[in-house]
Amino acid sequence: MDGSTFPEIRSTCPYCGVGCGVLLRADGQGGLDVRGDPDHPANRGRLCSKGSALAETVGPEGRLLTPRIGGQQASWADALGLVADKFRAAIDRYGPDSVAFYVSGQLLTEDYYVANKLMKGFIGSANIDTNSRLCMASTVAGHKRAFGTDTVPGTYEDLEEADLVVLVGSNLAWCHPVLHQRLLAAKQARGTRIVVIDPRRTATCDGADMHLALQPGSDVALFNRLLAMLYKGGLVDRRFLRHTDGFDAALKAACADDTGVTGLSDAQIDAFCQLWLKTEKVVTVFGQGVNQSSSGSDKVNAILNCHLASGRIGKPGMGPLSVTGQPNAMGGREVGGLANMLACHLDIENPDHRTAIRDFWQAPAVPDASGLKAVDMFRAVGDGRIKALWIIHTNPAVSMPDADIVSAAIKGCDFTVVSDITAATDTARLADVLLPATAWAEKDGTVTNSDRTISRQRSTLPPPGQARPDWAILAEVGRRMGFARAFDYTSPAEIFREYARLSGIAGRFGRDFDISGLMDLTDADYDRLLPTRWPITETRRGGRFFGDGVFFHGDGKGRLIPVTYRAPAAQTGPRFPLRLNTGRVRDQWHTMTRTGLSPRLSAHLAEPFLEIHPVDASAYGISPADLLRVISPNGQAILRARITDAVQPGQVFAPMHWTGETAPSARIDALVAPVVDPVSGQPESKASVVAVTRFPAA
Ligand code: SF4
Repeated sequence: MDGSTFPEIRSTCPYCGVGCGVLLRADGQGGLDVRGDPDHPANRGRLCSKGSALAETVGPEGRLLTPRIGGQQASWADALGLVADKFRAAIDRYGPDSVAFYVSGQLLTEDYYVANKLMKGFIGSANIDTNSRLCMASTVAGHKRAFGTDTVPGTYEDLEEADLVVLVGSNLAWCHPVLHQRLLAAKQARGTRIVVIDPRRTATCDGADMHLALQPGSDVALFNRLLAMLYKGGLVDRRFLRHTDGFDAALKAACADDTGVTGLSDAQIDAFCQLWLKTEKVVTVFGQGVNQSSSGSDKVNAILNCHLASGRIGKPGMGPLSVTGQPNAMGGREVGGLANMLACHLDIENPDHRTAIRDFWQAPAVPDASGLKAVDMFRAVGDGRIKALWIIHTNPAVSMPDADIVSAAIKGCDFTVVSDITAATDTARLADVLLPATAWAEKDGTVTNSDRTISRQRSTLPPPGQARPDWAILAEVGRRMGFARAFDYTSPAEIFREYARLSGIAGRFGRDFDISGLMDLTDADYDRLLPTRWPITETRRGGRFFGDGVFFHGDGKGRLIPVTYRAPAAQTGPRFPLRLNTGRVRDQWHTMTRTGLSPRLSAHLAEPFLEIHPVDASAYGISPADLLRVISPNGQAILRARITDAVQPGQVFAPMHWTGETAPSARIDALVAPVVDPVSGQPESKASVVAVTRFPAA
């Protein structure tokens, strides 16, 4: 059949949290034609290099086609029976907290919902956490402290209505390229000013009016200065502050903080603050440079404090905007896929919320306390408290901090099952049972992007071999564990309707997340569902939050949180004199299981590297392209030297994509200590300490 005879299908890009719409057409030979969806509100037809290369990453090559037990091909019946038996046996012998799920922002909302329901409602433990813990848990914690719920106040359109956009710890040009394209277009059209706050000079700085290369981890001190100057300049919005509590304490903490730790001059700080103060329409975008820190939640609240104090929130062109790393990081937050949350933004600590969920699910028990967050979960795997572990669409043997220790922990676990599209990941190789799951172009369901827009992912290609959707695999295990009625799903549409009904209960508790307006969708409606921003109720559809002064704490008020600068946990010294920053490159995604298949994408930056300043390179006798041994207290890696003044003296940068599969000696997260933010549990991935020598040593 000619490829043009296949219908064009609307779906969503499976990479970053921008959530661009794509139009897919099967070519009849197992491949796809891909173009940007001109009608999707996130991208209006644009795609970045990764999205444009999606067609090069599909196909049967490298796919896991059948279940495997102990490395041998097995039937679905045997594999699922073994998974259910092993989990049941561990629970019966050691209790529900002896098992855990570690899942992923790659899961669709329907998959996530079933995983969360199985663990929190029927196994009776909260031990389900996600790789989103490594991505935006600090934002979740900051939002909840300030707003009472994990609510993104604004929308992408705010970037086009703002007069000043401040990008904090965000290399938007490489990590959320289509949003960056929208921002640059706005700059051209209306002269939007752009400020980048980042220790490193990134591609995003090319389009900026100001770059503040602050010291790593010092964001709180900078935004505290801004809050103090808002007050001193008489620019606090007293009328809006009546809708909040905590201003005096936050201001007192801010005034006591010392901006000397930022490494910026007074003139630089003044220039930034004056620009912020004299511009009413300000959006502050923040990314992993804020989140991946032992003070990440405080950084988030330092930013939110300034928007709350000035009333610049939830109005056109005004507000904070966190950008999520994964396609469905937001959907995972909404369904309660984090160990400290219940579905639909209900609180695990609230007995009424727990009862409502238990009644709705007709579940035996809903846990009354948080489960193990990612770093603690793998510690518990390592010390034998977790007896059965299910890892879904993620590669923690590479991507968790202290990756060597995590890898050994997974290997030593009594029973590990991995669901993925490939057996060729460092984690999949450690599994007792491997389950073949469908990949993005074969999946049906929904995702939510960084501005609360729910979009459909639609199946365009047939699954290869025996691959199955994640929701179906999870539901079958639930049934085999004895919960037949609760997991008797036949389609993602059915799961979505149940989820939408549950959100209506959350809405009655006064929570923000309410999509009950979608609970009566027919299968055909669900199939046709257009991108829609929540909330979606009978009376409300989309829009912004908090401009009206209504928050989700019990008293209806928002909170300013007193925060002061805390240094990164590890300090440089004679043994480890350099500060290691980690991050993404433009054309790779996570551990490269998909983007690594595209020669075009791999041509951008072909191998792992370490950026080092010329002053440090000279001090260590390093020449361009030398191989370097990078050593931290936790591990080591071998990387190619790139000498550049984009990093500051005393600081180095390495991308985090390369793995045991593509570059066995370049596992960056083996260098990262498992230090976490005490509020959010998010690891400090951007402030390790390392030493560097030439490899082999001269
Ligand atoms: Fe995909 Fe993100 Fe690129 Fe959009 S910006 S095409 S969602 S990777």
